[in-house]
Amino acid sequence: MFPPIRKMADAARRARYLEALGIDVWVPRHPRAEPVVAPAAAPGDLASPDWPALRAFVSDCTRCALHQGRTQTVFGVGDTAARWMVVGEAPGADEDRQGEPFVGAAGQLLNSMLAAIELPRETVYITNILKCRPPNNRDPRPEEVSECLPYLHRQAALLRPQIILALGRVAAQNLLGTDWTLSKLRGTVHHFGPLNTPVVVTYHPAYLLRSPGEKRKAWEDLKFARRVFAELTPAA
Ligand code: SF4
Repeated sequence: MFPPIRKMADAARRARYLEALGIDVWVPRHPRAEPVVAPAAAPGDLASPDWPALRAFVSDCTRCALHQGRTQTVFGVGDTAARWMVVGEAPGADEDRQGEPFVGAAGQLLNSMLAAIELPRETVYITNILKCRPPNNRDPRPEEVSECLPYLHRQAALLRPQIILALGRVAAQNLLGTDWTLSKLRGTVHHFGPLNTPVVVTYHPAYLLRSPGEKRKAWEDLKFARRVFAELTPAA
């Protein structure tokens, strides 16, 4: 008996995405369940805004010095009913110019990574820890994160995602309130916020562009995330 045509087309499409990722085979991986303590909830002044109000609030934000150098805030993009939330570090030059997270080459690779696990970009919600671009793409400073993180908490409270994919060390450490290395954070289900949302950690696409040899590990992370999601939401 022949496989259904749609399944064959899906397989071909995924093969193209895997090619973009530099991946050619599936690598089984077994999850390790080792939860990490979640950080605090959003402060009271952000407890009530809906999506438009929160976006407007952020666009006028001057809570940290990064507002002085921004072209515009980069709030987030995607389906506000998405079950997957993707969180990166901070806007870069392209994002600052366009007002959207993960555009340019890193955005293209992220799109391929998501498509490889059958998640078109428009079906997830994508945002960053910081909503304004740090100068020269330096790492976010602790005081900037502490001022901006409440916005992410509110976005998560509005979205209520079933899983969060954290991209890169900076995003993961700040989401999870830890100084663990990326290699220690990978392959484990962590939890974020008062809703205890599961978090899976992988590499930032910009890092993968600089270190293509790590793409295979990223692919293992993506399959792990998809498996965690499937186990948490058996009807999905
Ligand atoms: S980075 Fe966040 S806290 Fe700082 S000014 Fe921008 S929106 Fe406000």
